[in-house]
Amino acid sequence: MELKQHQPTESFQVALQFEVDDIDQVTTYDIACEYFIHLEARFEKSFPDLLPIVKQMRWGVPALHVQGHQDSCTYLFRTAYMECVGHFHGETAEQYWPEANQLGPHVRQMNNGHRQDTMITHHGDWNHKKTMGIGERLTS
Ligand SMILES: [Zn+2]
Repeated sequence: MELKQHQPTESFQVALQFEVDDIDQVTTYDIACEYFIHLEARFEKSFPDLLPIVKQMRWGVPALHVQGHQDSCTYLFRTAYMECVGHFHGETAEQYWPEANQLGPHVRQMNNGHRQDTMITHHGDWNHKKTMGIGERLTS
């Protein structure tokens, strides 16, 4: 079996450079409204080298998850209300679950090592495909 080496496209390189140079990072997490409260203190204690990066991050709650939060979370953490942030749902991590759930019947009978290897392979395949297509999606 021959492995195919993928070369990053120019659009991918442009998109990646844009991301790296963007000092205002926006990250979403289901409970970011609570998670970020002590985040800087935790990084200062455990990962002080990464603290400058954490301080550059702004936090949002994904569009579907924020609907189950307090009303104030909608206005403080919904990306649609964040300054200089485009509308996005922030639920990309959820898109993989229907695909991953199909592994359930297959891995159920496997021993732990085989199950872990199979799941890691599938997660890697999903992430590889997503990464290879991100440049085209960001520039289209
Ligand atoms: Zn909240």
